[in-house]
Amino acid sequence: MIPYGRQEVTQADIDAVVTVLKSEYLTQGQMVPRFEDALAARVGARYAVAFNSATSALHAACLAMDLGPGDELWTSPNTFVASANCARYCGAGVEFVDIDRDTWNMSTARLRELLVRRPTPKIVVPVHFAGQPTEQERIWELSREFGFRVLEDASHAIGARRNGEPVGSCRWSDITVMSFHPVKIITSGEGGMALTNSAQLAERLRLIRSHGISRDPSKFQDCGGLRGEDGSFPAWYYEQQTLGFNYRMTDIHAALGLSQLDRVDQYVERRNELAGRYSSALQGVALQLPRVRAENYSAMHLYAVRLIGPRDVRRHRQVFEALRGAGIGVNLHYAPVHLQPYYRALGFMSGHCPEAEAHGASAITLPLYPGLHESDQDRVIDTLKSALGHG
Ligand SMILES: *Cc1c(COP(=O)(O)O)cnc(C)c1O
Repeated sequence: MIPYGRQEVTQADIDAVVTVLKSEYLTQGQMVPRFEDALAARVGARYAVAFNSATSALHAACLAMDLGPGDELWTSPNTFVASANCARYCGAGVEFVDIDRDTWNMSTARLRELLVRRPTPKIVVPVHFAGQPTEQERIWELSREFGFRVLEDASHAIGARRNGEPVGSCRWSDITVMSFHPVKIITSGEGGMALTNSAQLAERLRLIRSHGISRDPSKFQDCGGLRGEDGSFPAWYYEQQTLGFNYRMTDIHAALGLSQLDRVDQYVERRNELAGRYSSALQGVALQLPRVRAENYSAMHLYAVRLIGPRDVRRHRQVFEALRGAGIGVNLHYAPVHLQPYYRALGFMSGHCPEAEAHGASAITLPLYPGLHESDQDRVIDTLKSALGHG
């Protein structure tokens, strides 16, 4: 089977992990802060806070921005469920903003329309689908005009740029979250990162990540009056100041992530080359190919195509199964989140986001990863063409 995505682990990665295993600290050592600092420097954000997954980071980001019952979070329906679930963990409501038919990202025009008509949500979560940046500066402008916070889900987009600005710089958002699941561009096994330029948000993210516990004497509330005359506290002293979780990344995972970080640009470049090969080979075939806007450099996490012509669920399935049957691990990104049974039970119905629904009924993700051999890629292309009836 040619998978749709696959990680690459080098000897340098293995050595980095083994070094941690032989060291004193498996967690809460130096690798996590080193991974955080290296990623923050690479994307140009002031602070980075590592988590054990992007899902945890999204949850913590929502809590750090005070999302709670009675609030709403708006996101794209064309995403992984975690982009929406983070609101539900906080007891908040979710709304889905339909996608743009060219980029398959949340439509900025549709977002504006909804903002005019509806009570303002607390947080909007744009998702850089497949690695293509959203119209982040326009979303940021809307956030200034209407008064909401912006949380970028950049799980697909490490290494991407918009007008030269790296995704993750948080120039046009409050917090950006990235994922290091093995299927993503680089991996730490499991892991995620929250990036921000706000010292206050970074501090809250760190508290939430580790039980709500602070060990910073300058932040102690000292309700028990334990501060000594010289201002110091007993060596055992710490304070739980809010309700947090154990969402920490281990040093083992951070060592792998940090080692992989060196290869982000190389990986993204290779992904773009392979995507270019798909696009030239599939010119003239009855498919909508990815459209990357001139101002964007996509991380090309996914190469998704859409069947064109009238919506036909049976044909979609047939093409999909013809490829799977030939040992090609095609996938669907995404069945619209609002039509998952969990969200239907909250009242969402088909027709709510027509473009995302059309996407879910016609999209096919083709295998794409840096180690994909061109001969395997050619087989994907030929099999797809014949499944579509092109010679
Ligand atoms: C993978 C993914 C997540 C979740 O990432 P984890 O690190 O697996 O928790 C969230 N959002 C999107 C868009 C993703 O693709």
